[in-house]
Amino acid sequence: MSEIHKIAVLTSGGDAPGMNAAIRAVVRAGINNGFEVFGVYNGYLGLVEGDIRPLNRGSVTNIINRGGTILGTARLPEFQDMEVTKKGADNLKALGIDALVVIGGDGTYHGALRLTKCGIRCVGLPGTIDNDIACTEITIGFDTAVNTAVECIDKLRDTSNSHQRCSIIEVMGRNCGDIAYAAGIAGGCDLIITSETGYDEKVVMDLVSKAKRQKRRHILIVFTEHITDVSALAQKIKEQTGFDSRATVLGHIQRGGIPTPFDRILATRLGVKAVHELMAGNSGVVIGLQHNEAVAIPIEEAFKMEKNIFRKYAVEINTNASK
Ligand code: ATP
Repeated sequence: MSEIHKIAVLTSGGDAPGMNAAIRAVVRAGINNGFEVFGVYNGYLGLVEGDIRPLNRGSVTNIINRGGTILGTARLPEFQDMEVTKKGADNLKALGIDALVVIGGDGTYHGALRLTKCGIRCVGLPGTIDNDIACTEITIGFDTAVNTAVECIDKLRDTSNSHQRCSIIEVMGRNCGDIAYAAGIAGGCDLIITSETGYDEKVVMDLVSKAKRQKRRHILIVFTEHITDVSALAQKIKEQTGFDSRATVLGHIQRGGIPTPFDRILATRLGVKAVHELMAGNSGVVIGLQHNEAVAIPIEEAFKMEKNIFRKYAVEINTNASK
């Protein structure tokens, strides 16, 4: 396999705090190891449109503490079309770029796998707040998103307790309840409902009715998005139990903000590892954290792995809440 001289980096899919720290790590570790480094703007869209610009050490100054992504991100469903993928690969080849580090989620790795088949050496980094990537114990952005959610839950706890209210908090994580589990546990919530736990409205009504009888001052219930209309549920709780109830949808607030030190360190470690993998001649891999070590897993193998870190706690906490 020929030696690599030029590498590029892009961010794709939903943005996540810590993506900038990962870009910085790739750029600086790349330059320190003798590569020329390029940034691809707006994910696979920019790749196909040829929006690829050189990055130097200074290009990534002052970004380790910034949320979002300086490279921008986009979703381009057409990238599943091999002709479109090939155009992206050709744009890299035209600039003499041999390798690409992609920062994103599973969808982004599917794109990387296709690019690898077009002769571009790709390495993936797990950048997504949802923590829905099985090959890593934790994704870049998850810790910050959980911190944001817990901060909001703490605030809702204060006001719920003052007014004797039930607060329903909707967090992100359509296909993976990890934000709900982590924030729900840290926020001391009474019930956590996700796509994995299933949802029975009667359980909620029973919990709130019992709290009313016990003269409790607050109830905190966390839902992941797309389970139910939480505002309608809050109204129903009020009508059926007499316990005042409000819903708060945290939404995209969870995507933004200053990355936590944990996310910055994780992003830096995984970013440096990505460059080392390319130097070692490896590609078609995702970098993950396993047993606190940065490891490289073949993308196809990563797709077959199952997540299990946070989910098991939800059952315990919900069981405790119902006692
Ligand atoms: P997040 O978890 O934040 O949603 P993601 O990387 O999974 O991140 P997606 O929107 O699923 O986000 O994927 C990002 C981009 O990757 C897509 O817009 C598309 O350009 C590309 N992509 C997704 N799936 C494929 C696929 N099967 N083949 C080629 N490219 C794909």
